[in-house]
Amino acid sequence: MENCIFCKIIKREIPSTIVYEDEKVLAFNDIQPVAPIHVLIVPKQHIESVKKLTEKNASILMDIHLAANKIAEKLGISDKGYRLINNCGPDAGQTVLHLHYHLLGGKDLGPKII
Ligand code: AMP
Ligand code: ZN
Repeated sequence: MENCIFCKIIKREIPSTIVYEDEKVLAFNDIQPVAPIHVLIVPKQHIESVKKLTEKNASILMDIHLAANKIAEKLGISDKGYRLINNCGPDAGQTVLHLHYHLLGGKDLGPKII
């Protein structure tokens, strides 16, 4: 998708620090981390948000979750755990309109989700 910053990262048109890649998913460090580990996991296919998931493309959620486990293992936080966050739409503060999950970890994140 033209003018989509995450599509540009996927196409290597703008730089990022990639931590994981497979056929369907790319994961890279968030440019403004809010935790010691803050990785964004995105589908290589442009899907705007969770709202645009259908029965045809929703299997990407399984790929993203499996990728999250592999990333946690690779970054050494598998035992301690991590939090996966998705923002969908304006009230949730979604700023990039390409489906993405924030993988946060590397410290005790506390019990709160907001
Ligand atoms: P959200 O608010 O859920 O849409 O999250 C978008 C995230 O993308 C924010 O945490 C930004 O810091 C991150 N972000 C924006 N541009 C880049 C970039 N070029 N490289 C890495 N992360 C980015
Ligand atoms: Zn995109």
